[in-house]
Amino acid sequence: MSNLQRRDFMVTGLAATTAALAGAARAAAQEPSGGPIRGKEGASILGPTNPSREAQSRDRLAPPVTDHGTLPNLKFSFADTHNRLQPGGWARQTTHREMPVATDLAIVNMRLKAGAIREMHWHKETEWGFVVKGSMRVTAVDDQGRAFQDDITEGNIWNFPTGIPHSLQALGGDGCEFLLLFDDGDFNEDETFLLTDWLAHTPREALAKNFGVPEEAFAKIPKEELYIFPADVPGPLEKDRVTGAGPVPKSYTHRLMDQKPVETKGGRVRIVDSSVFPATTAISAALVEVEPGGMRELHWHPNSDELQYYLEGRSRMTVYASESSAGTFDYQAGDVGYVPRNMPHYIENTGDSLLRYIEVWKSPWFSDVSLRQWLAFTPYELVRAHLGIDRSVLAPIQVHKTPVVPA
Ligand code: MN
Ligand code: MN
Repeated sequence: MSNLQRRDFMVTGLAATTAALAGAARAAAQEPSGGPIRGKEGASILGPTNPSREAQSRDRLAPPVTDHGTLPNLKFSFADTHNRLQPGGWARQTTHREMPVATDLAIVNMRLKAGAIREMHWHKETEWGFVVKGSMRVTAVDDQGRAFQDDITEGNIWNFPTGIPHSLQALGGDGCEFLLLFDDGDFNEDETFLLTDWLAHTPREALAKNFGVPEEAFAKIPKEELYIFPADVPGPLEKDRVTGAGPVPKSYTHRLMDQKPVETKGGRVRIVDSSVFPATTAISAALVEVEPGGMRELHWHPNSDELQYYLEGRSRMTVYASESSAGTFDYQAGDVGYVPRNMPHYIENTGDSLLRYIEVWKSPWFSDVSLRQWLAFTPYELVRAHLGIDRSVLAPIQVHKTPVVPA
């Protein structure tokens, strides 16, 4: 080997060592999640990797040892949905199409700029709404011609039963953003019955005959649907109020934030079903707040699938699906979670700030079975024969529900 060759070899060798070190550093940097490694199991990723996504699903990448078997996907982020942009705002949805397990419930996330209108419409599904930010006006007319209008703000809800025509409009400030829940996973926000679309596809002479006026009265009807469109911020509701055939028998809105929560050391829960909001015919929900380290206790729902929407914070949920199958999923703000009926689960705050999310069920009443109550209210010797736990484990468990347990 000539000196020149030797020098080349040494430089190449040094370069190779440097490259290897850089590679290791890069691998570490690319796996802020810690990579698919759990104790002595697993190994680093050699091929392509998506560090930010992997960090968001730490418990999928390196699952707890208790996870086993095959579960359906129980997480979908609104960040991955198609967003329909309109002059007045936007709308995106997570349905059975995005998340095949979601057969019972679908969710829409919608934003309206100040004054913007989600046009007058109706649909087959029941609509349950939750104001995420801002304030808005909702209107409806029922099958008896009774009218409803109300202005609502952040954290409050509405419910329009199947077929009841309604509208949504942002008030002042920065407008509003809200969630719409539907009692059918196949719901499609793009397939609702729209006032403008209907009348654009009705012969003018039929419209004229219907209202007993000349056809020219309908000259300005849009040729295409408006869906979400800009408009002026409306004036005070008291000036615009219409009563029609009288007030609706049950208010279509509910002040959830005025409701006293079930408070525990680990957080608080506001449950809204037909017992406190009689207009709710198909959907019930809970607004859950879990302090850092706290947990929504181990439980299941005998009456419905559960859909979750995460408003703030970080969490993980393990779902047990019988036959030794269990899977753990991580969530953060903007994610949707789903749990099939009767499958037990917990939701743990894994962040260092408040975890806030809503649980929604396709049922007019709230129902959950608590593992703690089940065990505490079964003869002790029977429980001990199964689990060998001491009586003291079950002694503090109370007869009233404590949905959130502390750290
Ligand atoms: Mn609607
Ligand atoms: Mn639940």
